[in-house]
Parts: sequence; C-alpha cells; structure tokens
Amino acid sequence: MLGGLAKWLRAAGYDAYYAREGTDLSDRTLTAKALRERRVLLTSDGGFLERKPVRDGSVGFLKVPHLPLEDQLRLVVEHFGLVRRQSRCMECNGKLNIVPREAVAGRVPPGVLQDHEHFFLCQDCGRVFWHGSHWQRISDRLERVFV
Ligand SMILES: [Zn+2]
Repeated sequence: MLGGLAKWLRAAGYDAYYAREGTDLSDRTLTAKALRERRVLLTSDGGFLERKPVRDGSVGFLKVPHLPLEDQLRLVVEHFGLVRRQSRCMECNGKLNIVPREAVAGRVPPGVLQDHEHFFLCQDCGRVFWHGSHWQRISDRLERVFV
C-alpha cells in the first residue's frame, strides 16, 4: 500500500525496500527481514504489532495512515527526524553514481546529453537520470517536505 511512499523515500536518499502486493511475504517474513537488515517497518495496517520484535521494540515501526503522498512523507520525515540525502534510484532502490555525459552517450536524447554535464546512473538497474524538469518537480516537492 505504501509503494509511492517508498519511491519518495528513495528520492530523499533512503534505502527503502518495498514488498510489492502479490509478492507473498508474510508479516513474519517481513519482520524477520527488518530485524536482520536493521530496517524500520512502515505499514498501513496494524498486523505487525502482533509480532514480537515489533512489540518489544527490536524493530522500529510506524503505522502510516491513508493520506495524500506528500503528507505521508512529511509524517515519516518528522517522526524519524530525517534529513535529505543523495538520492537513490526511485525505481529499484539502487545507489546512483554520478557519471560524465560521455558515459551515457546514445542512451539519452541528444538534446538532453548536450544540456547536462553530469548524469546519474543506477548501479543496480542501469537506469540513467538527470536533473531536468522532471527531477525539478521531484526536488521541489522534497524541498517542501524537508524544510
Ligand atoms: Zn535502479
């Protein structure tokens, strides 16, 4: 239910794993993963509260209500006192490496290549990003939340 929130946390630079709907991960499995990987559980349902590591505080937990995305993000940012970091890949959560334009020639439109000196290459999925108008809208939204 919180896939949108996960993407925005990645844009803000946080390692956000998202259990897609349909992937058959039980609350128990996810709680164990969170404990093992020192993750905090963000969920829109309260089922996790029955799991021992959540009850005893070994795993951080926050129930995020159904709100517009920006309000959800603000809630998480304020609750955990997050600061904005170097963005991760919004699609796959991979780290982004800054690369010169030569590294992505042929992979982005020629005009875009000409307009930007540096690009961001996801080290996991290989997607290329740049600070164009789409990124500016994302960044403006993050600016509003990370005041
Ligand atoms: Zn990626």
